[in-house]
Amino acid sequence: MTDSTADTAPAVDPDALPPCPACASEYAYESGALLVCPMCGHEWVAGGAADAEHEAEDDQIRDAVGNTLTDGDTVTLVKTVKVSGAGGGSIKVGTKVTGIRLVPGAADGHDIDARVPGFGKMKLKSSVVKRAG
Ligand SMILES: [Zn+2]
Repeated sequence: MTDSTADTAPAVDPDALPPCPACASEYAYESGALLVCPMCGHEWVAGGAADAEHEAEDDQIRDAVGNTLTDGDTVTLVKTVKVSGAGGGSIKVGTKVTGIRLVPGAADGHDIDARVPGFGKMKLKSSVVKRAG
């Protein structure tokens, strides 16, 4: 019984970790059952384990770097956002917003209900925020 394919097959390093699905960084490391990306802070399950989790992912709202957001999260703006109406102005990049509320399926992409300091209640796009902490 010869097994010549074993010699010619490309060597796959079993320790090699996949790149970050959020930012494609190759510096992900294992942290318990999770893989963690030091570049953007994204955490995910190696190999995409549970199917049920996969299904739920479609409904999930993610921030600018792919972190899943949940009700009550604290986020910071990753870009300055112009406010239309309500006196105008703009919310500066880096502004911290605590206790967000998610609005799944928002047609216009403003899927976060937020109370912004100095501006009050308004809707934000998840693509302009990053989960804090
Ligand atoms: Zn990353």
